[in-house]
Formats: sequence, structure tokens, C-alpha cells
Amino acid sequence: MICIAIANQKGGVGKTTTAINIATAMAATGWRTLLIDLDPQGNASTGVGLRASERELSSYDLLIGEASLPECIVSSAIPGLDLVPATVDLSGAEVELVDVEDRAQRLRDALAQHSGHDICFIDCPPSLGLLTLNALCAADTLMVPLQCEFFALEGLSQLLQTVEQVQQRLNPDLDIVGVVLTMFDRRNRLTDQVSDDVRECLGDLVFEAVIPRNVRLSEAPSHGLPALIYDHACAGSRAYMALARELIGRLPERRKAA
Ligand code: ADP
Ligand code: MG
Repeated sequence: MICIAIANQKGGVGKTTTAINIATAMAATGWRTLLIDLDPQGNASTGVGLRASERELSSYDLLIGEASLPECIVSSAIPGLDLVPATVDLSGAEVELVDVEDRAQRLRDALAQHSGHDICFIDCPPSLGLLTLNALCAADTLMVPLQCEFFALEGLSQLLQTVEQVQQRLNPDLDIVGVVLTMFDRRNRLTDQVSDDVRECLGDLVFEAVIPRNVRLSEAPSHGLPALIYDHACAGSRAYMALARELIGRLPERRKAA
């Protein structure tokens, strides 16, 4: 199973929207896909149809070692897409694990258990705390959603520093599969400018596929559905399908066959 963390310490940049829709796109392409919700807000869980009242075992239980990976997995409303949900308990995990020696490796150890999936996406919370650190340790690679706004690149350099530290100390094989520009608005000149700057600075690291600002993407979660199911033909859904195709092309051959 190849594991992709979706991280950016800024809130509201499109991490959860990307996690939900790229996971759905991969499942629709025939990949047995697992989505791990690692944000105490649990929006990714809601977004694939699992109400808060329906959540039992969660990523919290996984991290503190109360349950195994297979025990924490539930089916989502989408064929081929399974979920490890998040509950508010997760906000306490950071404190509860503070004295645990390998506290950054909890998720990696849990994911070593067999689950029968080809690919897994981890939706990270908006910080570089212990939860995101667990995701970066467990992941083969990182996908970074970047909102086309002023200061976008500044936040990115902090994230890249963290990635470097993780590579040096905890997960030497971690790489970055790509940066995806989100909430792109072609009528807004600042967005265009930021997009040009980011491409100039990061080159091929930036995915060709750009996620437009699209109201269907923001409406879909209130229906408990990924946009790709809610309205598969909308511009946002088409952009996430294009992103999935590009992602598959970037995964090493060995992993594609896994
Ligand atoms: P994060 O997980 O990084 O905090 P979200 O994915 O939750 O970000 O997005 C923040 C808000 O913006 C949500 O209300 C979401 O529905 C909305 N949103 C995200 N991406 C888009 C987009 N491409 N177009 C329109 N709204 C979006
Ligand atoms: Mg989120």
C-alpha cells in the first residue's frame, strides 16, 4: 500500500476537499482506497458520508494503540473507498502520547498491519504538531494543497523545513509527490500571479492540474458526498479526476502494481 499524506499547516487551503475527492477519484479508477481522517474536526469522515453519531473506533484508537487497523476501518458511501474516521477524542491524543517514546511512529506502526488496500490518503489537521508528524512518518510521499493567495509560499517554506527534519530523523524515504494549486480563480489577477510565482519557484513539483474555485466542491460535504459523486461533471470534479490521472503517472511503477 502506498501512503500519501495531504498536509499544509494552514487551515482552509483545501486539504480535506482534496483528500475526499482524490480518494474518491482513485477508488473510481479501480484502486482499493483507504482514507484516514487525522483531523479532530472529522470533516473528511463527514464528507464521505459518515455522521459523527455513527463513528465508533477511530484514528484516535489507532494512535493510542487501543485498536488495530482492520478494526478501525469502515466502508464509506463510495464503492472501493474505505475510511478510518476521526472523532473529537483525537484532539487529546497529542497530550496523551506526550510521554510515549515512539509517539511520532504510532501511525506508521499501525499501517504496517495488512488492510488489503492499494493506496491510502491521510487528511492532516492544520498544524505541524504530533498528528501531522505521525502522518509524515507513516507516509511514502506528501501532497501539498496550496491556496493561490499572497503568503502561500511563506507557509510552504515552513512545511518544507519540517519535511526535511522528518527525512533526517524519522522517515528518510519521505518525498513530495506534488503541490496542487487550489481555489484557483482565473478572474482574479492575484491568483494568476501567485500561480505563476509558485510554478517559477517549484517547477515540476507543481501538478499541471489546478483545482478551480467551484461552489459544487463546497456544497457537496453538506450532502455527505464527495463532489465527484454529488456532481461528477462539475469543474471541480473534473479537476480532481485530472489530478488523479497525474498522480498515478507520478507514482513509481513498483507501487502502481502493488
Ligand atoms: P482544509 O482542510 O485545508 O482546512 P477545506 O478542504 O476544509 O480546507 O476547505 C476549506 C473551505 O473551503 C471548505 O468550506 C471547503 O468546502 C471550501 N473549498 C475547498 N476547496 C474549494 C474549492 N476548490 N472551491 C470552492 N470551495 C472550496
Ligand atoms: Mg481539513
